Amino acid sequence: MLDVFASVQIREVASIGGNLSTASPIGDLIPVMMALKAKLKIAGQLGFRWVEIEDFITDYRQNCLQNDELLVGIGIHDLKANTHFRTAKVSTRRDLDISTVNISIRIQLDENEIVEEIILAYGGMAATVKRAVKAEQYLIGKPWAKEVVEEAKAYIEHDFTPISDARSGAEFRLEVAKNLLLKMFYEVSR
Ligand SMILES: Cc1cc2nc3c(=O)[nH]c(=O)nc-3n(C[C@H](O)[C@H](O)[C@H](O)COP(=O)(O)OP(=O)(O)OC[C@H]3O[C@@H](n4cnc5c(N)ncnc54)[C@H](O)[C@@H]3O)c2cc1C
Repeated sequence: MLDVFASVQIREVASIGGNLSTASPIGDLIPVMMALKAKLKIAGQLGFRWVEIEDFITDYRQNCLQNDELLVGIGIHDLKANTHFRTAKVSTRRDLDISTVNISIRIQLDENEIVEEIILAYGGMAATVKRAVKAEQYLIGKPWAKEVVEEAKAYIEHDFTPISDARSGAEFRLEVAKNLLLKMFYEVSR
């Protein structure tokens, strides 16, 4: 994700705190942090508090910060040995382009390759970065196999009602979201 994030010039000045605080539905680091179950450290006049990333983003371009608060830290646990994390971005150009759709996945498999836990965080599919909860629920307890992932793709349509805008039509977004799930399957399985 960092390889395709903006451009060298933007990366030299942009901060992770700014990317998350903007709460953009196509901010590239929000799905990453969601899949990593990041906790955000917030400083205010009365001290510090920690907020889960999913509670930090409250609405389209809205976060839960009060007027006197700043995001000052991010906490991420190490991933267990059987937990995989992958992320991907689809945009028209490689450089200097924001996402049409992006995905971050965290998946925990047991010794028989059964899905124990999964987070599918998508950007560009709703007013905020959003998890594909129905697809996640379908996959939990099932083998991490191509046929099962192909079936799970159908649930993406129930998870999201994307909009059409200058970057893409809604139909294309849905198709990309489904195919990104399959891409994640291949990347985790290799
Ligand atoms: C040419 C270009 C390309 C871009 N490409 C991408 C891209 O590929 N992917 C992507 O996700 N974004 C992209 N962006 C958007 C933006 O640059 C990034 O999201 C960047 O990470 C924002 O960080 P910043 O530090 O510049 O935030 P700012 O723009 O300075 O701040 C954004 C908002 O967050 C608030 N804020 C900043 N830091 C904090 C903090 N620590 N605590 C609380 N509030 C805070 C600010 O007050 C402001 O309201 C691009 C922008 C440009 C101009």
